[in-house]
Amino acid sequence: MIAFNGGNDEVVGARSDRQTVDSPPFSRRSFLAKTSYFGALYAAAKLLPMPALAAGLATYSRLSQTPIVDKGFASVRKIGEGLYATISDPSKGFQTVCNGGFLVGKDSALLIEGFISAPGAAFQMDALRTVSQAPVKGALDTHYHFDHSMGNAFYGANGIPLWAHTDVAKRIVESYGALQGADKAAFLGPIEKAIKEAKTETARKHREGNLAAATNLYNVSNSTVLALPNHPIDLAKLPMKVDLGGVTAVIESYPGHSGTDVIVRVPEQKVVYTGDLLFSGMYPVCFDAQATVSGWRQTLKTFASWDKDTLFVPGHGPICGQEGIALSRALFDDIEEQAQKMRKAGVPAAEAADLYEIPEKYKNIGIFAWDFSIGPAILKLYAEWGAK
Ligand SMILES: [Zn+2]
Repeated sequence: MIAFNGGNDEVVGARSDRQTVDSPPFSRRSFLAKTSYFGALYAAAKLLPMPALAAGLATYSRLSQTPIVDKGFASVRKIGEGLYATISDPSKGFQTVCNGGFLVGKDSALLIEGFISAPGAAFQMDALRTVSQAPVKGALDTHYHFDHSMGNAFYGANGIPLWAHTDVAKRIVESYGALQGADKAAFLGPIEKAIKEAKTETARKHREGNLAAATNLYNVSNSTVLALPNHPIDLAKLPMKVDLGGVTAVIESYPGHSGTDVIVRVPEQKVVYTGDLLFSGMYPVCFDAQATVSGWRQTLKTFASWDKDTLFVPGHGPICGQEGIALSRALFDDIEEQAQKMRKAGVPAAEAADLYEIPEKYKNIGIFAWDFSIGPAILKLYAEWGAK
């Protein structure tokens, strides 16, 4: 397994001949510099620690208080019989960034997420091996986004079948393959121009957040050997049962976040691994060309209809119960309410996207770059209303 011992010079990514981003080899120091945006983001998010959430909620009595592994950047916790959640804390390191987990039956195991780096995927595999030697039936990317798929090469190198929505391979190539060797200045130029031309201080700050996120995306894309799923999930066959031996997972697909989203449910234990269809304690990230606000809200309504004691492992943020779904729905409601008022007052979409005001009660809710979350949610709502 790949060790990540905290030194400054281990190679964590392969050298690319086209690499113009940084001088190879890709050291941990440069990796941290490239991904520090996530650290700032999560530090600002003030995510509630699990014990605070757990207090007094019946949903959480199934959660093991002690993680089986805790490396700072992520910890793994037992959340059911044969069910484990990997929860990331990017303020302490960027190996995983997104959440994930694994399911273990007596015959086989299923891993969830490729994470943002191969060391992240290796970390989760190591955690699985501390509790089971069962053969791994597959690893599943919940969707194509880079923070869930850039560690896929680890699975390829270990002969683990990689499962995902049928469109994931294509979207990885189109979105991140296209950035490899691309001119960085040309890629970032339009955002830099938007910063210079920003008419308000607020708009300028939002574009700066966009630039930081886009720079990070460019750097990670150019420092990663992309690996594509080789086991496309046939959407016509969903919901699909996966029998691991005493643990049965059900794979389903829902609209909302990326157009490629699948979830893993274990109805017998009322546990759901949602991928990014749930941002827990954070504003939903809506930037994807195939994200749909109305579709996503419908999906959250479906999640809300499930058992009141359901435990959700979100794509980002802490594990939650139905109160996490309710919060996500309330955030969408608030964005819609404010956007609707602005539309009625004749504010154009492009301006409205910068004018949402965070209510006092949501001041501790995390925001992953305004232009990836609140801004596009407003633009998409305007588009759904046929307004400009
Ligand atoms: Zn995502």
